[in-house]
Amino acid sequence: MEFNNINFDTYFKHYPDQNGFFGKYGGVFIAEELKQAMAEITEAYFTICKSSKFISELRRIRREFQGRPTPISHLERLSGSIGNVQLYVKREDLNHTGAHKLNHCMGEALLAKYMGKKKVIAETGAGQHGVALATAAAYFGLECDIYMGAVDIKKQAPNVARMKILGANVIEVTEGLATLKEAVDAAFAAYSRDYKDCIYCIGSVVGPHPFPMMVRDFQSVIGIEAREQFLGMTGELPDAIVACVGGGSNAAGFFAGFLNDPVEIYGVEPLGRGSKLGDHAASLSYGEEGIMHGFNSIMLKDEQGEPAPVYSVASGLDYPSSGPEHAFLRDLGRVKYGYIGDEAAIDAFYTLARMEGIIPAIESSHAVAYAMELAREMGRGSILINLSGRGDKDMDYIIEKYGIR
Ligand SMILES: *Cc1c(COP(=O)(O)O)cnc(C)c1O
Repeated sequence: MEFNNINFDTYFKHYPDQNGFFGKYGGVFIAEELKQAMAEITEAYFTICKSSKFISELRRIRREFQGRPTPISHLERLSGSIGNVQLYVKREDLNHTGAHKLNHCMGEALLAKYMGKKKVIAETGAGQHGVALATAAAYFGLECDIYMGAVDIKKQAPNVARMKILGANVIEVTEGLATLKEAVDAAFAAYSRDYKDCIYCIGSVVGPHPFPMMVRDFQSVIGIEAREQFLGMTGELPDAIVACVGGGSNAAGFFAGFLNDPVEIYGVEPLGRGSKLGDHAASLSYGEEGIMHGFNSIMLKDEQGEPAPVYSVASGLDYPSSGPEHAFLRDLGRVKYGYIGDEAAIDAFYTLARMEGIIPAIESSHAVAYAMELAREMGRGSILINLSGRGDKDMDYIIEKYGIR
C-alpha cells in the first residue's frame, strides 16, 4: 500500500534507516562512550535476533511461559449498547504478568543472555516495567537492577514487593524530585559504568536507536497475531484499530501488523485534567520537535526547553514525549493521534467491567473510551482495540479517588 509517497510494502526494510531515523525522528543523541554500547546492541540485534535459533526459542517461550497467543474477544454487549459498530479487544491483559510489557522484556533479556551479559538494568516509574523485567530476569537467571525514585517507591508498594520477590535489586534514587526522571539519569549513569557486563532494557519504543526499533519488533507479535486472528474470526480486516500511547510500545507493536492494510489507525494519548501544559501528556497533539532521553521526537517542553511536567490518571501514559516512529507516522498522516481525559477513561473502565466482565488497565481504558466515541461517529463497521493490560493494579486507587460508579 502506498501512502503519502511511502510504500508500506517495504516499510520495515527502510524504517528506521541505518542511523536509527524514522524520517527526521529518532537517532542516537547520547554520550560518545554509550554510542559504542548502542552500536554493539544494534549489531547483536541484527545478527542474534534474526537467527532462526533465537526466533524459535522466543516463540517457544511466548507459547509455554507467556501464554501466547492471547485471544481476541468480541465485545457483544458493549457494541450492542452503542449501535451497529462491532467492537473487539486483543487481550494483552491475559499475557503473563497482565500486560504487553513482558513481550519486549523477554526479547531484551533473551538477547542479553545470548550476548553473554550477566545483568539487566532499567528504570521504572510506576513499577510496571520493573516488574516485567524482573520477571524476565528471573526466568533467564540474570541479575536485575531496577532504579526507582524514592517518591515512587513509597507510592507503588505492591510493585516494589513484586520486584523484590522476583529477586530484583530495587535501587532507591533520592536526587532531585526523586521520581522517574532522576531514576532514568541514575540508571544511565550506572549503565555507563558497567555496560560491558550488562544491558540497559528500555521500557518502551523510546530512547536511542536501536530501542525504538527493537521494542517495536518484539511487540509486533501483538499486531501479527491480531491480524490473523481477526481475519479468522470475521473473514475481514477491522475497519479501524485503536491503542493507547504513552511511550508507544503497545501501539507500535499492534499497528505494525496493519500498516500495510486499508485500516484506519488511531493512537490515543492522555488528556488528563485538560489541555493546559502540566495537566496532560498528549505530546503528539500539543508538543513540538525536540531531543530528550537520547532521541529526537515530538515532546512537551517547559519554558527552558526541558521536558515539561506531565500528568495523567494513568501512570503508564504520563510521559512527555512519544516514540520517534509515532511522530513519523503522525506527520505522514498514516496514524491519527487523539486524546482522552481522565473522566472518560474512568467511565470506560467501569463500562468494560460492567458490560463485558473485563477490568482493564486505566491506560487501556483510554483506548476503549476513544473507540466508543469512534463507534458513535462511524455508525457501522468494526473496531479492534488493543487492551494493553489488566486493571488489578488500578482498582484501589480508582475506588479511593472516584468511588464505585
Ligand atoms: C506501560 C503501559 C502502557 C504504556 O506504555 P506504551 O509503551 O505506550 O505501550 C500502556 N498500558 C499498560 C497496561 C501499561 O502497563
